[in-house]
Amino acid sequence: MQKFTALVARKGEGGPAVGWQELSESDLMEGDVTVRISHSTVNYKDGLAVTGKAPVVRRWPMVLGIDFAGTVAASSHADFKAGEAVILNGWGCGETHFGGYAQFARVKGDWLVKKPDGFTPAETMAIGTAGYTAMLCVLALERNGMTPDKGPIVVTGAAGGVGSVAIALLAKLGYQVIASTGRTGEADYLKGLGAGEIIDRAELSNPARPMGKERWAGGIDAVGSHTLANVLSMTKYGGAVAACGLAQGMDLATSVAPFILRGVTLAGVDSVMAPKTARVAAWSRLARDLDKTKLAALTVTRPLADVLTLAPDILAGNVRGRVVLEVG
Ligand code: NDP
Repeated sequence: MQKFTALVARKGEGGPAVGWQELSESDLMEGDVTVRISHSTVNYKDGLAVTGKAPVVRRWPMVLGIDFAGTVAASSHADFKAGEAVILNGWGCGETHFGGYAQFARVKGDWLVKKPDGFTPAETMAIGTAGYTAMLCVLALERNGMTPDKGPIVVTGAAGGVGSVAIALLAKLGYQVIASTGRTGEADYLKGLGAGEIIDRAELSNPARPMGKERWAGGIDAVGSHTLANVLSMTKYGGAVAACGLAQGMDLATSVAPFILRGVTLAGVDSVMAPKTARVAAWSRLARDLDKTKLAALTVTRPLADVLTLAPDILAGNVRGRVVLEVG
């Protein structure tokens, strides 16, 4: 294996120092599958890791990047052979195990998912952790009995990665979607993905009353804090809300009223340690339920080098939809 370049975070005096570094095969971490990476992406968590704004990295030095797609270069795992196309989302990559901002990674084969036939490697990274989490949220709503006839679904952080993919998925499944966004200028973009109504996120940003007017049957929330509390307080009797994010904050000042007076369910969604069966189910549903024209409309493609400027941009809420990084 030739030497390759990676984006490495090192522990520094005033916080992590992040820079490009040349690595070789002997630098790779333990694992039974070596992957030649072709594409990665920028998720909100990648923004936090690259800028050092939150303690995402827990082992030093660390190759950043929580997602990658590529082909198997070498494998001693029974399920994978050289040349197969694979995807990795999470499992601590870019946090405690070398991640996707490099041309090679070595990981446990049990962490990998075979690339669904319907997607190119670039499309799997257009989806990435954000899109796969959006699918996990849809599946969580379905497990709680959600169907399009129950009423509209509100999606918060709508113009972001999770939000954009969630809107496209829900619309394809026949749901009426209410998109909550701070970027009301992106109304045409959000309607193009399938949102029927756009609301200003300011309506949901302030402390919530215990119960509000019933506005939606459920929600997919990427924002947390007061936004999630307001979403819960306005969920119809018997509804369900899937919570996956903290773009506004990690706090949740709510009351038990929506749960004990309206029977609302709050379903937590984690993508990082989700078991393989849940991942395979999510990716197979993405292959069935994600409109690829809409996926293309919500995606831009950049070289890996651009991640240093994209990271602060995604934290500032300036990245619309999803970004594919070309690594290979
Ligand atoms: P993005 O940055 O792409 O999207 C986040 C969106 O949240 C922004 O685009 C913006 O939407 C909205 N937002 C940002 N700041 C605020 C604020 N202060 N108040 C209200 N809304 C705000 O990130 P991702 O889609 O990649 O991730 C979204 C969230 O989900 C993150 O918190 C991330 O950590 C979390 N996440 C969790 C996962 C899990 O496993 N549980 C997996 C993936 C993501 P708009 O401009 O439309 O208002």
